[in-house]
Amino acid sequence: MADVIDGKQVAASVIDKVKAAASALETETVLKTGLAVVIVGDDPASHTYVAAKSRMAKECGFNSIQHTLPAETTQVELAALVATLNADPAVNGILVQLPLPKHLNSDAIIQSILPEKDVDGLHVVNAGKLATGDLATGLISCTPAGAMLFVRRTHGEDLSGLNAVVIGRSNLFGKPMAQLLLNANATVTIAHSRTRDLPSVARNADILVAAVGRPEMVRADWVKPGATVIDVGINRIDAPERGEGKSRLVGDVAFAECAEVACVITPVPGGVGPMTIAMLMANTVIAAYRAAGKVAPTF
Ligand code: NAP
Repeated sequence: MADVIDGKQVAASVIDKVKAAASALETETVLKTGLAVVIVGDDPASHTYVAAKSRMAKECGFNSIQHTLPAETTQVELAALVATLNADPAVNGILVQLPLPKHLNSDAIIQSILPEKDVDGLHVVNAGKLATGDLATGLISCTPAGAMLFVRRTHGEDLSGLNAVVIGRSNLFGKPMAQLLLNANATVTIAHSRTRDLPSVARNADILVAAVGRPEMVRADWVKPGATVIDVGINRIDAPERGEGKSRLVGDVAFAECAEVACVITPVPGGVGPMTIAMLMANTVIAAYRAAGKVAPTF
């Protein structure tokens, strides 16, 4: 039976480090780390995420500023708010909660955030820095950064000689994850919906990362014995066994059967999920250190 990574515990240790770093920065420079979270409209799921992020920012000792805008907000109004936050020295990180209402162009908004305040790591400058191997000055997309922390805890900093397969090629996760693995010297394959014979591609992986959005797609016979399996998927499925109309969360990996074959595995929920907010806080304190001209902590 594989070791099951406790994402909540790893995330809590990241948060402890963020708190200590934010407090040390404040003692040294009187500067408080600032995170601005912007939400447009009234999508309940987005409000839940934003509330969790704002709460965690406060817990980290940050100055947490939430801007809640009505669903009718125009592109010009939202762009003006981002411009104000870009110019505000008290704001180190800007997060615009996605998805935005349909009439707004999210990409234009994300790309208008100053790259050094883009704590979600979605700006093309940050994606480009990661792609060119500059991990020292850019900000890395939070979920892959969190998943990579699991990989490093299991295999160390140098993945020389290891095969990594990432299933999924999104800009949000698959591509940056592959870049991080490549940077650590793994031999990386990016698989996607057009990949032929995915099970045999996956079976080649010492490190198998699934970010697809298909419940329990990765089966035990896709997993190389002794592999590390990182499950990024979050899928809600019906769970009639829990009562009528009930549901439950599962990943992209059939956990129970894959845990019999893998050496290390992440659960869903409680694996990669909790790392996203933790790495958002880490990026914010990193941005604050850089803005103060100090050497940023590493996570
Ligand atoms: P996405 O943008 O929808 O990308 C999904 C990827 O999976 C695409 O590259 C797609 O290939 C590939 N794919 C779809 N069906 C496939 C199949 N049958 N075989 C192989 N590949 C297939 O999704 P995402 O944003 O990367 O997210 C992926 C999953 O991770 C979702 O479940 C999401 O909820 C979860 N997620 C969790 C967190 C978190 O824990 N905080 C954060 C981000 C995402 P094509 O490119 O060829 O279409």
